[in-house]
Amino acid sequence: MNKFIPVFEPNLNGNEKKYLIECVNSGWIGANGPYVKILETEFSKYCKQKYGSCVTNGSAALDVALKAMKDVYKWDDNSEIIIPTFNIISAAQSCIYNKLKPIFVDAEIDTWNIDITKIEKVITKKTKAIIIVHIYGLPSNVTPIIDIAKKYDLKIIEDASQAHGQECNGVKCGSFGDVSTFSFFTNKHISCGEGGIVLTSNNEIFEKINYYKNLCFTNEKFIHNDLGWNLRMSNLQAAVAYAQYEKLEETIIRKQELGKTYRNLLKDLPIRLAPAKTEYSDNHYWIFGIVLDKNVRLTAKDVINKLADKGIETRPFFYPMHKQPIFKKLNIVDNIERPISEYLYEKGFYIPMGLNLKKEQQIYITNEIKNIIIKH
Ligand SMILES: *Cc1c(COP(=O)(O)O)cnc(C)c1O
Repeated sequence: MNKFIPVFEPNLNGNEKKYLIECVNSGWIGANGPYVKILETEFSKYCKQKYGSCVTNGSAALDVALKAMKDVYKWDDNSEIIIPTFNIISAAQSCIYNKLKPIFVDAEIDTWNIDITKIEKVITKKTKAIIIVHIYGLPSNVTPIIDIAKKYDLKIIEDASQAHGQECNGVKCGSFGDVSTFSFFTNKHISCGEGGIVLTSNNEIFEKINYYKNLCFTNEKFIHNDLGWNLRMSNLQAAVAYAQYEKLEETIIRKQELGKTYRNLLKDLPIRLAPAKTEYSDNHYWIFGIVLDKNVRLTAKDVINKLADKGIETRPFFYPMHKQPIFKKLNIVDNIERPISEYLYEKGFYIPMGLNLKKEQQIYITNEIKNIIIKH
């Protein structure tokens, strides 16, 4: 019997332990420690942004980014922010917490990123920004999106939580946003269990982010003019994230090897994979997604359950934002059809991509997938 294969496993074989012990020995476990500082400095430089501010997670990074931008750019309540509907809930939720209205745009069938041809159709006088979310390891083509943003005077937020070290036309993801955010959750290319960072080159926004993430403390200690949150990252988290950052290139190479092997093993099946490369970037395979062809009479759920019986852990694709019960309840969803994201959810899932996955396991996993699809 094959052992259980988890959908992801981090690799903590670098300097993680050494740096953690250093934190403990020095007593620097809280926020503002040396690892927080070095991570902010190094990672912002790496992404060609002037400033970095570590926070507790990638969702919080978006919360505080939008709050700071709303202040600095003087956006009214109910200003509209364009986001992909095929996405995790974080961006949409951050909009709502900040009294901004998320406008959901369908995905593109090949790359699963936002359908750029549909962006201009939803721009109104109220539109203030586009949140670019790089999906599953293949980035959005940022150039035409930035052109649209310039044409309509919109700001760009880049959620690069699935694209650490990724590039568009040779330029690092995270460098394109007026504000860019990353998550350091367990399954991300850089991870410290829970964590995140906000990057920007705008000093005013940076100051606001630091203000809101730190309970809106002022120079007069314990006197507050606003309400914020405590979203500070501890030095312990930053120590692990920094050790992971040192190995980022290695992690990406490993993921690309795994992705290439899966592609070769999954040839000639009635399935759709994201392209290995596009004209603007290579696929880094943050995850390895599979979308069943329409004529396969199985849903992603069917395959997920059958693979679970074989000890293979998988995950379904994102459930589109425009279908979310909470957003229907809040009455913020229009009736525009977004069929691609619905198809991706119905037929898409992703398979194990742990950094220590062995070739035999990849063969076992793909054989089981073939059996399920061919037998149905
Ligand atoms: C993981 C992720 C988030 C959320 O990050 P957390 O650290 O889990 O809060 C947000 N956006 C994207 C695109 C993500 O992949």
